[in-house]
Amino acid sequence: MDTIGSPDVPRVHVRSLSSTYGRLPDHFYSPVVPTPVAAPQLIAFNVDLSRALGLDLDRLSDNERLALFAGNAIPEGATPIAMAYAGHQFGNWVPQLGDGRAILMSEAVDATGARRDIQWKGCGRTPYSRGGDGRAAIGPVMREYVVSEAMHALGVPATRALAAVTTGESVRRETSLPGAVLTRVAASHVRVGTFQYFSARQDAEGVQVLADYVIARHYPSAAQAANPYLALLEGVVQRQAALVARWMLLGFIHGVMNTDNMTISGETIDFGPCAFMDAYDPDKVFSSIDSMGRYAYSNQPKAAQWNLARLAETLLPLIHPDQVTAVERATSVVSDFMPQFEQHWLSGMRAKLGFATAQAGDLELAHVLLDIMHGQNVDYTLAFRCLSGVTQDDATLAPLLALFSSPAAIETWTRQWRQRLKAEPMSSGDRCALMRQANPQVIPRNHQIAAVIAAAEASLDFAPFHALQDALARPYEERSDVYAYTLAPTESERVRRTFCGT
Ligand code: AMP
Ligand code: MG
Repeated sequence: MDTIGSPDVPRVHVRSLSSTYGRLPDHFYSPVVPTPVAAPQLIAFNVDLSRALGLDLDRLSDNERLALFAGNAIPEGATPIAMAYAGHQFGNWVPQLGDGRAILMSEAVDATGARRDIQWKGCGRTPYSRGGDGRAAIGPVMREYVVSEAMHALGVPATRALAAVTTGESVRRETSLPGAVLTRVAASHVRVGTFQYFSARQDAEGVQVLADYVIARHYPSAAQAANPYLALLEGVVQRQAALVARWMLLGFIHGVMNTDNMTISGETIDFGPCAFMDAYDPDKVFSSIDSMGRYAYSNQPKAAQWNLARLAETLLPLIHPDQVTAVERATSVVSDFMPQFEQHWLSGMRAKLGFATAQAGDLELAHVLLDIMHGQNVDYTLAFRCLSGVTQDDATLAPLLALFSSPAAIETWTRQWRQRLKAEPMSSGDRCALMRQANPQVIPRNHQIAAVIAAAEASLDFAPFHALQDALARPYEERSDVYAYTLAPTESERVRRTFCGT
């Protein structure tokens, strides 16, 4: 591990960087610079994101850019840090986690004034690495790049991928694998587990400094509230309720919703074993380490609320000096998560079904459809996309019916659905367009990601990665050139397990 300020760390000039987290008290982080890698090669550089952040990284020479993304060079004036945090992992308390293979390069302020973290992942050991090597294998880097960018294109708040490079070195996992470094961008990397870190150390001042920091950075209106810390909790609850509803509506399973993997900003973070389900199944679990199904698809709202209760505990002393009063107020805010989630979900489901108005039986109608899909193992994404093309003309039903092994139930359902559509003031053309905005044609399917990873691992072949990226760039458009990416996996392609690969 290099020490900060080491004169032999190469520097490159990067515009619009500044840092605020590094001005917080010393025990919030450890200054550390990346450990250089032997022979980096660029896999991908997200030039649009770089420009949106005002970084102008496209003005660097190829060599400078590569060195920066590999952690072989750091920005002029930057003081990279590894952040301290703790967390509950699968319900078990771990008092110290922290950035063990990630380093915060710096922060950037874009043209709109939004501040974002830029972080390397897989760039070498830090004081928080514990037994780990501080490195990332190519597979998890590919998965995070693809899925985080896909989430963004799908309109879901998520960290972004700025670049990925191979290192020219191997990392030892179950086998020896090519190493890689991801550079990611986040609204911030403050997690529920960051609050827990200070709270568990009885560091009341640390919790308050962190709370004031995130209020200023993410919830500025909370500062004006009668009780700013309760308003902060309300804000996080609101954003997480909206976020998890978006996941559920898209069939996304995060897979490792530990408190250290839940952001305060409301962005999806950490794409380790995440997966989109193919056939609709409320109990679906992909992650190889989630043996109890704690983070199964339909458990996600409950898991999020559990995490928010852990956040609330850390804020109690700030919410009210009297503990009973504080618990009462915080409980009421956290209890509001479920009704908020359900409201977001139902309004998102109405859009998926083509309803611009709200009618009494909508929830039941949605559940009947989901039950039929579940009973017949129907692909979730395809079913909703096909439904988007159905009009009053019976011929348009054929692609939808073809997804069901016994079409009687779905035929009955579509009759009820068409009846319900009569209450909608829209033309069927407008309705189809609305539905397509809510029902993507393409999602990052597991078997496609598996193919991307296999090619990268076997021969550093990134052609499948670039092709998949392109297919996922405009997921709601009706594109004929991405047909292969819209298909559900065949039996032999089907992925049953995903692995963190850390
Ligand atoms: P995750 O499961 O990816 O959320 O990581 C949980 C914790 O393990 C975090 O503190 C990570 O920094 C740490 N970690 C994961 N992989 C490694 C690694 N290869 N080397 C060091 N620390 C790691
Ligand atoms: Mg994590």
